[in-house]
Amino acid sequence: MSDFFNQISRRKFIVTAGASASAVFLKGCLGNPPENLTGGSSQSAPTAQSVANVNPEQAPETTTVKLGYVPIVEAAPLIIAQEKGFFAKYGMTKVELSKQASWGSARDNVEIGSAGGGIDGGQWQMPMPHLITEGLITKGNQKIPMYVLAQLITHGNGIAIASKHAGKISLEVAQAKSLFKELKSSTPFTAAFTFPHVNQDLWIRYWLAAGGLDPDADVKLLTVPAAQTVANMKTGTMDAFSTGDPWPYRIVQDKIGFMAALTAEIWKNHPEEYFAMRADWVDKNPKATKALLKGIMEAQQWLDNFDNRKEAAQILAGRNYFNLPTPEILAGPYQGKYDMGDGRKIDDKSMAAYYWKDGKGNVSYPYKSHDLWFITENVRWGFLPKDYIANNAAKAKELINKVNREDIWKEAAKEAGIASADIPTKTSRGVEEFFDGVKFDPENPEAYLKSLKIKKVSV
Ligand code: CA
Repeated sequence: MSDFFNQISRRKFIVTAGASASAVFLKGCLGNPPENLTGGSSQSAPTAQSVANVNPEQAPETTTVKLGYVPIVEAAPLIIAQEKGFFAKYGMTKVELSKQASWGSARDNVEIGSAGGGIDGGQWQMPMPHLITEGLITKGNQKIPMYVLAQLITHGNGIAIASKHAGKISLEVAQAKSLFKELKSSTPFTAAFTFPHVNQDLWIRYWLAAGGLDPDADVKLLTVPAAQTVANMKTGTMDAFSTGDPWPYRIVQDKIGFMAALTAEIWKNHPEEYFAMRADWVDKNPKATKALLKGIMEAQQWLDNFDNRKEAAQILAGRNYFNLPTPEILAGPYQGKYDMGDGRKIDDKSMAAYYWKDGKGNVSYPYKSHDLWFITENVRWGFLPKDYIANNAAKAKELINKVNREDIWKEAAKEAGIASADIPTKTSRGVEEFFDGVKFDPENPEAYLKSLKIKKVSV
């Protein structure tokens, strides 16, 4: 690792560690008291009714596991698998879901594992599992090998902007260039994400750069816990942040801000968050891992039946999970209905969150080509050194081949009786296209970097 990266990652680590200590994440800031201050609440599985039906050859080595989640729609497959008994159906009768106070705490908890009072795996932004495996965001740069096992969701995220900029900033941020330049000379436009170098950071950066703004020079970007971000937006010191549902809706409802863009508008059917676990847990418990995956797959299929989404919203909104004042907050977005808060209304089912299948095919299967985009984007902004994508991305591919266990996903899918037509045969989803016409060809990430006008890396 270069000294540059080491320096950056440690500095950011201090910021996020401080954030996790405050331990009030996505809660408490809009009227609900936090449940506790030590890292969230846990829920145990309902009593299993059909464990006896588990094929003896597929019976899990252990029925116990602790999985972390953050209370946003990305976590739905884990919560639904728990609440609808899909984990139990495959023999995982003692799954404990543990609400994480922040992404920094999730990282800290997976570092120690459940044996040390932490977690064995759970929900992740990308490429957190790769960065943890490489020891780039862990304490003392300790390498904790992790496996990416499934994608949890596509869509469901957006970019929120403070009300004072209403009517001035939209998806096509180029139109607001003069506003950004003007602010730069007094109080720079400030945008936040909840963990550096991963999804939310990358979505804001992509959106700004597509409009001709340099995220490292024209705005101030920083890591802030979501609760604090909303408070800062209320008092006018925060201009923007990127987040998952239910936050876009709540920001609009509370008249704090509006949505400039949904991530579905930036990159239709984009990869979002993933299910990943410590490699040592998976290696020790391969059947239990597949049982968890089967439960998640069944939950993802259940969630994609739009007739179930009202019930899904009710479960997720519950006090044990998101603790929302009403499930209605999730109901609209779950049908692709968004009030963007600036007069724009979206009513398009193809913009809703999907868990199992989207407009491009399988969502749950973890395509290696998507891991490569996240790593390439990290190279783009100087978070990872250029050698990851040199020699046709040999180093990135080596890391992805170690971390991405799409082979286990496929085995689990076969055991679950998923139709072979629904099991991808290629580890690449092929060329991806963004809203500004830029294309990412996973066969040539360097060409993608060359095609981008705004970047930190020189290629
Ligand atoms: Ca997200």
